Amino acid sequence: MRAKEVPLAESGLKILMVTSEVVPFAKTGGLGDMVAALASELARQGHDVRVVLPRYYSVEIARLQRIGSALSVPLGVEEEWCAVYQSRLPDADVPVYFLDHQVLYGRDGIYGTKTEPSFHDNLRRFALLSRGAFQLCRSLDWFPDVMHVHDWPAAVVPVCLYAREKDGPFAGTGSMLTIHNLGHQGVFPEDDFRHFQLPSELYATAGFESPDGINILQAGIQNADILTTVSPTYAEEIQTPALGCGLDELLRRREADLFGVLNGMDYETWNPETDLHIAANYSHEDLAGKAPNKAALQEAMGLEVDPTVPVFAMVSRLAEQKGFGELCGPTFGSLYSICSRLELQFVILGTGEAWCEEELQVLDSKLPNLSVALEFNDPLAHLIEAGADFFLMPSVYEPCGLSQMYSLRYGTLPIVRRTGGLADTVENYDQDTAEGTGFVFDQLNPRAIADTVGWAVWAWYNRSEDIVTMRRRAMQVRFPWEASARRYAELYQWAIDRRLGRTPRS
Ligand code: ADP
Repeated sequence: MRAKEVPLAESGLKILMVTSEVVPFAKTGGLGDMVAALASELARQGHDVRVVLPRYYSVEIARLQRIGSALSVPLGVEEEWCAVYQSRLPDADVPVYFLDHQVLYGRDGIYGTKTEPSFHDNLRRFALLSRGAFQLCRSLDWFPDVMHVHDWPAAVVPVCLYAREKDGPFAGTGSMLTIHNLGHQGVFPEDDFRHFQLPSELYATAGFESPDGINILQAGIQNADILTTVSPTYAEEIQTPALGCGLDELLRRREADLFGVLNGMDYETWNPETDLHIAANYSHEDLAGKAPNKAALQEAMGLEVDPTVPVFAMVSRLAEQKGFGELCGPTFGSLYSICSRLELQFVILGTGEAWCEEELQVLDSKLPNLSVALEFNDPLAHLIEAGADFFLMPSVYEPCGLSQMYSLRYGTLPIVRRTGGLADTVENYDQDTAEGTGFVFDQLNPRAIADTVGWAVWAWYNRSEDIVTMRRRAMQVRFPWEASARRYAELYQWAIDRRLGRTPRS
C-alpha cells in the first residue's frame, strides 16, 4: 500500500509540534496562528497532537500547571535543567508544554526586543527548546510518530533525529520542517556550535556550515524528511535565486520532498456576518451593510464621508517585504502620485520600520485623501476590512499572507502582486467576462502598483456591476483548515516512510 492511501483518521498519528510561537501564548506573526490552528484541526481529526515551546516571561506561570520533575537537557559542555509546565490550546484537545528556564527565557521578547532585535544567545535559547523536546518525550514516556518543527528555531531537531536518535525510541520518528519565512535562517558565529552538543564533524556534514557561520535552517532543510512551505507558489519561488535567500540550490536538490500547503483561514474571528468590531454585519447575499462600514471607516480615519469615492486600504507591518519600498521609499515610490492623481481615498494601518513610519507621516500631512494610523489596532483592522473597497498588498514575497484572505471574505477586493500565497488565493479580474476575485500584477515597481490601482479605480467608476459580482464571488471563496490539515497528515505519513526507509529521501 502506498503511503498516500493509509487511512489516517483510523490510525491517529502522534505528532509533536516544536515551535517558538503558538497562539494564544506567544505570537509575533502568522507562525503562531498557523501552529495553533493546524494543531487544533489535527486533534479534531483524531490525531494525538502536542506542542512544546519555551515558557517566555510573558506566559504567566500562574495559569500553567507544573508537571513531572525537571528535565536535564544536554547543552554546551554540560547540561541545563528546565522545569516543565503544561496548558492546553483553547477549544481543542491539544496539550501545550512549556520549558521553563529563568536565564534563557525569563526576559521580555520572543526573539529580541526593540533595543536588541535578536538576542545574542538565541542559538542557545532555541537549542534548549530543540534538545529539550526529546527529553520531554522521554519524561512523558510518549514518543511521537512525527516531529513537526517550524522555522529556524526548531530546525536542529531533524539533525538530532539522524545524528543522536538513530536507535532507541525515536528510531521511527519522522520529521517535517515547515518554512514560514526563508528570510530568517538562524545564522550564528561558528563558535556557538558547541551549544548543540553534537559531534563536531556534523558542522560540515549535516549542513550547518555557511559563509557567515552556522546556518541552522540550512541544516534543517538538509536533514528533515519532509519540507513544507505555507503556500504552493512559495514552495516554487524559494527554489529560484531571486527568492531562495541563498538556499535555492539546496532546496532544488530536495525538490521531491518539498511541498506547499496553503494555510487555512480563521472563519470565526473574521466573519462579516457576525463580526462585533464592525458597524453593520453583511453577507454575500445582502451587501447593504458595506455602506455603513465605509462611512464609519471614513469618519474614524478623518476622511470625507462619501459613498461614491473608492476607498483603498492597507493593514500591514511597515517593512520592505510588504512593498513599502516601492510605495513610499525615500527616493521614489508611487503612493504620492496614486493619491494626488487618482479619484480615491487611501487608508493605511500599520507599525514597523522607522523610515517607513516617517515617510508615511510626511505623505499623510501632504495628501488630504490619505489617512495613516501608525498603531497596532485589531478592531480598526476589522473595520478596514469591512469598510474599504479595495485592499492593496504589493509584497516583494509573501509565504502565505492572511490579509488577502480576510479581504476576500469581507468583499474588499484584493490588489496583489503575483507572489507566494497571494498568487495562490487571488484570481485576476477579467474585464471581458467579469471573472476574478481581485486585481493581480507581476512586476514589483512603483509604476506597476500605480497602474493596477488605476485599473481598479477605472473599474469602480466604469464597471460597477463587475465590482459587485466579484465582491459576491470573493466572499464565497473558502480556505478551510480542514483540507490543509488532511494534507499535512498525509505528508506526515510520507515523513515516517522516509524515516523508516520505505521510500527514499531526495
Ligand atoms: P505577516 O504575518 O507577514 O505580517 P499576514 O498578512 O500573514 O502578514 O498577517 C498580518 C496580520 O497582522 C493580519 O491579521 C493583519 O490584520 C494583522 N496586522 C498587521 N498590522 C496590523 C496593525 N497595525 N493593526 C492590526 N492588525 C495588524
